[in-house]
Amino acid sequence: MKVDIRELVELSGSFEGDETVVIEDPMGGELAMPCRVRVDFRQGHGTIHFNGQVTASLLTQCHRCLDPVRYDLVGDFELMVRRGEHGAEEGEDVVTLPVHQYDVDLDPYVHEAVVLGTPMIVLCRDDCRGLCPTCGVNWNRETCSCRPDADPRWDALRSKS
Ligand SMILES: [Zn+2]
Ligand SMILES: [Zn+2]
Repeated sequence: MKVDIRELVELSGSFEGDETVVIEDPMGGELAMPCRVRVDFRQGHGTIHFNGQVTASLLTQCHRCLDPVRYDLVGDFELMVRRGEHGAEEGEDVVTLPVHQYDVDLDPYVHEAVVLGTPMIVLCRDDCRGLCPTCGVNWNRETCSCRPDADPRWDALRSKS
């Protein structure tokens, strides 16, 4: 998402757009996520503050049972753009535009907001029981008669008695 700051004529306002952000899937591979981006802006003396909110619906798999899960992601970002001269406020979230440049690229900020808003582990529900490691049935829906693997340390104790 690119913004031409010459088009921001009001002192404050907002704009919206759709972005596709490609991130690493917590379950492996890459995910192309359609995101909705809403940006509020506020103009100061030679500066513009941008406040963005990114929302997306992440379709992935439950970490325990591998069922498809939808996760609603919300991320945000903040950014200040300065025109021309360099100031003392130079920093990570401050962008200084050269005199004849008017475009601000918000993509890296949108991408970072999505990455930070994506959980490492998504569960279909907090108490998901997962899959049986022996026969693979989904313990949320079925039960099985597999016994938990015997721990060899107990065998050692038993043989002593
Ligand atoms: Zn699950
Ligand atoms: Zn089983």
